Amino acid sequence: LKKAAEYLKQGRLVAFPTETVYGLGGSAMANSDAIPKIFATKGRPSDNPLIVHIASRSQLDSLVDPSYKNRLPRCYTTLMDKFWPGPLTLLFPTIPGQQVSEKVTCGLRTVGIRMPAHPVARALLAISNIPLAAPSANTSGRPSTTKASHVAFDLEGKDEPACILDGGECSVGVESTVVTALSDGTDTSGKETLRVLRLGGVSPENLQCCIDEAGLSEQVSVQMEAYTPSTLLPDKAMNVHIAKDTFIPSTPGMKYKHYSPDAKVILVQRSENPSAVSLSKVLSPLKGKKVGILHLENSPLLSALKAQDLGCLSISMGTEGQYEEQAARLFSGLRSMDEQHVDVILVEAVKEEGLGRTVMERLRKSAG
Ligand code: AMP
Ligand code: MG
Repeated sequence: LKKAAEYLKQGRLVAFPTETVYGLGGSAMANSDAIPKIFATKGRPSDNPLIVHIASRSQLDSLVDPSYKNRLPRCYTTLMDKFWPGPLTLLFPTIPGQQVSEKVTCGLRTVGIRMPAHPVARALLAISNIPLAAPSANTSGRPSTTKASHVAFDLEGKDEPACILDGGECSVGVESTVVTALSDGTDTSGKETLRVLRLGGVSPENLQCCIDEAGLSEQVSVQMEAYTPSTLLPDKAMNVHIAKDTFIPSTPGMKYKHYSPDAKVILVQRSENPSAVSLSKVLSPLKGKKVGILHLENSPLLSALKAQDLGCLSISMGTEGQYEEQAARLFSGLRSMDEQHVDVILVEAVKEEGLGRTVMERLRKSAG
């Protein structure tokens, strides 16, 4: 850890585990030389801003525009108390070039900040005492990295990172949820809108629950953006309101193709009794191909594949309804399929509730 902290002080990059995914970290501060190295190493589009990771709330002050200090949305304190350390990123006003590097925010006046929970991440942040900009440690476009070996595979032979800290497998396995309740100041009603810009490790249901428990339901409404649910609008299961625009990227990163393994990914709807017609629709184009199936336990599709004697590689994402388990296995499942050189991955769709929403958002993107 001391050696890694030294590298960070020299402006180099360190890959480190967080509870969400492995990050490729470098100093986020205004004088940092590290940020262009992060973009170059990952091949990340230059307009996709980075999230900054902090060790303690006191580090927030050095990152947030001081003129907003007493004007932050009220729900922020509630959310930080509940979800930090953990997989929730909040947007804060900042002064790029004075506080964080302007290359971190890609010219925006806001910066996404979170406090990770993984002990290795926390130790690295505390020992280096540097807020770290850290996107996932994969090559851009590939599935995110949830094991140190994934990082080594993607970044082998590159100049950076200086080292990879191996902290085992990530427990959450999907990136943080990105939210903002910042407003343009024109609404004087005192009401706040908490916008979910990117789905991640904290579900919208959990955000709503936290707002309700804090007695803020009247003052704060939770709204999901950049999300196309397969179900009815608005989402009847909860108070969360879903923006009706089918897909308007409200955060720069959402427009990019993401999470794609080398194999072609086909998302298939789960059915208890798949008909012969629908099965042959899925299976006949796959003749002669090496097929993998990323399935849920007791999968009718897997049984059908086995019954047809179609040799296929099967990897379980876990039990139906166990969304935490599915999220944790998603990226390593996709990567294992590539390691076994399959041509096509059939993935069973999961229900869109709780973290199942995040799993489906990632799967839709990886299937293009
Ligand atoms: P990644 O680093 O791949 O986990 O992606 C970070 C996500 O957070 C991307 O979707 C970014 O567009 C989003 N993000 C980071 N900072 C900001 C910001 N200041 N404003 C809006 N979105 C942001
Ligand atoms: Mg990423």
